[in-house]
Amino acid sequence: MNLSDLQNGDSAVIVRVSGHGAFRRRIIEMGFVRGQKVTSMLNSPLNDPVKYGVMGYEVSLRRSEAAMIEVLPEDEANQPLPDGPEEAPNANDPTNRRPSADTQPAPRKNEINVALVGNPNSGKTSLFNVISGGREHVGNYSGVTVAAKTGHVTYKGYRFNITDLPGTYSLSAYSPEERYVRQHILDRRPDVILNVVVASNLERNLYLTTELIDLSQPTVIALNMYDELEASGATLNHEKLGGMIGIPMVPTVARTGDGIDTLLDTIIDLFEGRNRVTRQVNINYGTTIEPELAIVTRLMQQSDDLPRQFPPRYWALKLLEGDTEAQRTLRSCAAYPEWKAAAERGAEKIHRLLAEQTEAAVIDRKYGYIAGALRKVYTPGTVDLNRATDRIDRIVAHKWLGFPIFIFLMWLTFSTTFWLGKYPQDWIEAAFAWLGEILRAHMPEGPLRDLLADGVIGGVGSVTVFLPNILLLYLFISLMEDSGYMARAAFIMDRIMHRIGLHGKSFIPMLMGFGCNVPAIMATRTIESHSSRLITILIDPFMSCSARLPVYILLVGTFFSATAGTVLISLYAFGILMAALTAVLLRRGVFKADETPFVMELPPYRMPTVRATLKHMWDKAEQYMRKIGGVILVISIIIWFLSYYPRTEVPTDTTLDPVALSEMQYENSFLGRIGKFCQPLVAPMDFNWKATVALLSGAAAKEVIVSTLGVLYSNADEASLSGTLAASGDFTQRSALAFLIFILLYCPCIASLAAIGNETGSRKWVAFSILYNTGVAWLMSYGVYHLAGLFLSA
Ligand code: GDP
Ligand code: MG
Repeated sequence: MNLSDLQNGDSAVIVRVSGHGAFRRRIIEMGFVRGQKVTSMLNSPLNDPVKYGVMGYEVSLRRSEAAMIEVLPEDEANQPLPDGPEEAPNANDPTNRRPSADTQPAPRKNEINVALVGNPNSGKTSLFNVISGGREHVGNYSGVTVAAKTGHVTYKGYRFNITDLPGTYSLSAYSPEERYVRQHILDRRPDVILNVVVASNLERNLYLTTELIDLSQPTVIALNMYDELEASGATLNHEKLGGMIGIPMVPTVARTGDGIDTLLDTIIDLFEGRNRVTRQVNINYGTTIEPELAIVTRLMQQSDDLPRQFPPRYWALKLLEGDTEAQRTLRSCAAYPEWKAAAERGAEKIHRLLAEQTEAAVIDRKYGYIAGALRKVYTPGTVDLNRATDRIDRIVAHKWLGFPIFIFLMWLTFSTTFWLGKYPQDWIEAAFAWLGEILRAHMPEGPLRDLLADGVIGGVGSVTVFLPNILLLYLFISLMEDSGYMARAAFIMDRIMHRIGLHGKSFIPMLMGFGCNVPAIMATRTIESHSSRLITILIDPFMSCSARLPVYILLVGTFFSATAGTVLISLYAFGILMAALTAVLLRRGVFKADETPFVMELPPYRMPTVRATLKHMWDKAEQYMRKIGGVILVISIIIWFLSYYPRTEVPTDTTLDPVALSEMQYENSFLGRIGKFCQPLVAPMDFNWKATVALLSGAAAKEVIVSTLGVLYSNADEASLSGTLAASGDFTQRSALAFLIFILLYCPCIASLAAIGNETGSRKWVAFSILYNTGVAWLMSYGVYHLAGLFLSA
């Protein structure tokens, strides 16, 4: 019988997991180990995927994947329970000693580098925020490091540098986060690893801890969400457990800050080599694996070029498991071929004797070790913490209600973002207009006044007005993320995303894309499959980001005021359609073979905290404002400069009115010349040189299109840009529509391109994005222009 055969509400016991390597590994790591009880809990509205309960938490699996897990009805299964925690015989081998801080090369005095490692949703970010007190340095767009924030705090004379690493379930080389975390530990050598463990879900969370035990680094465990453990009525002797695994444990509640001082004290103790709990424990992998492990370890101990940060036993284990990342790291060692041969022989032997891969056997042993330890120190509570969650899930993932609720929430997000945002927007706009007037009134006439009033205030002002929209959008995104609804959105959407060759997890980055493509592209990190991740990254720029909204509002408001809502929604929908088509094309044409396991934790619903929500909004606002202060301001000034010079000589006895004069000025400026040079390319859509210039400058950042138009159409009598545009006669409805489509689809902005380059690690995909997106934009814009000719006035 397979897991997929289980009816809702039924339970069974796992016998075996089949399927290909990466899939099996991930499934087993997440707790689907032999002898575990699984319950089928709920179907998603489209019947697939299904929510299962295992090890006290909930996870979503596709039916096709559940079919690879062999189970037995509970009464037929009779599994012997593993014994208590066993240590390997060579636990006292001096070469395997856990390096304590004092043996490390010259520790910086009074400065402790701490790396936060833990499962997703274990409260790392909450802990990070409560420790660093908001005084952190927020990583900005550039570089892969954006996933890792570093914060600082001074406590008892020590300066703590705390790094919030991405959440992982293990440290295998399976997902980008796992590789990232492992590489961070290897390269940056944090003084102390702070392992965040969910106290109310120890069994699954401690799996990662067993991996850290193998790494043999100075480690402290924060038993976070201790309040939930207590609320469930469970009891835990954490001192005894810490003693067993050789790692000090401190109960914490990141939400309230309880236990933080003790945690920091413990970190200092460990750093100073004063902690008495800490010791190296070697998990016993059993009589079959241990001898093979000993052979490879001994070979490695003789080497002098083995990376010393991790112990030989760890590297030996990884080679036995066939870990590709470890192979890559060790390849440069002189004796590598010998090690590899020994490891392959060992793995073969293990496979022969245990009838399973070393990898799976090791994971099994680790879970056995945890279960054995927990049996001695932990009594489960009687209160089911998941009850409220299950009740809510039964509604939000209901067959009929699921989608209406989802659509309602998306509608609520968008309507509030844009309609409520309109009010503060008007105030900001008025403030900038007032500022411009004051400048004009008080400064002497000349280039400097024009630069400040038109270039700086005009440019920056037209972008700042959208700050309220961004704050509101991120308010909703943050609420959905922190409450746990985002994961449900992926659960509900998986079936549909599957149609375009992606999975539910790709939905979240796409939704984020409506806010800004840069964080959206980074959010793809949660997607394990390389090809799904790449496709999601490449289609994300078609999701209409909030920077494009100002342009839409301006043009739609000007040329389609009667049907503004419909046109706006159609634009967004068209972007989604192009994203879907591109995904299908890429999946069919470029990345043919890929079927990723859709294993996603469905965290219990939690009440979002005001503090975390505000912080998230603030972070985004700050990023946005920095963009204005940096790139956009510079570009606004460059554009102003290009349009202001060379100055056109005006004869003193001219009969021309000021509007005609300023147009003449623009036409002869550098900007006008560049626009005119490129204009033939977009002439088929009837874009004039001003529109061409706006598109050129918008390639830097989409919101610049508005400020460019603002500069180019600023000198008329009309007070508003919209009025000037309408009066200019430069756009018809159909050319405005074609212009909108072009802006929706063409070349991603510089920040997005930088993110694409970083996340894909290749310039090839940056070039692809520029060429493909601009090509699609041209074709679609051309098509729309001609189609619209049938319906709209010329
Ligand atoms: P991360 O994914 O590991 O960074 O986890 P977050 O810091 O984002 O926290 C995930 C969720 O757990 C949020 O809803 C937090 O409010 C909540 N949370 C964090 N720490 C605690 C805690 O100690 N107790 C309780 N009850 N909830 C917590
Ligand atoms: Mg986090």
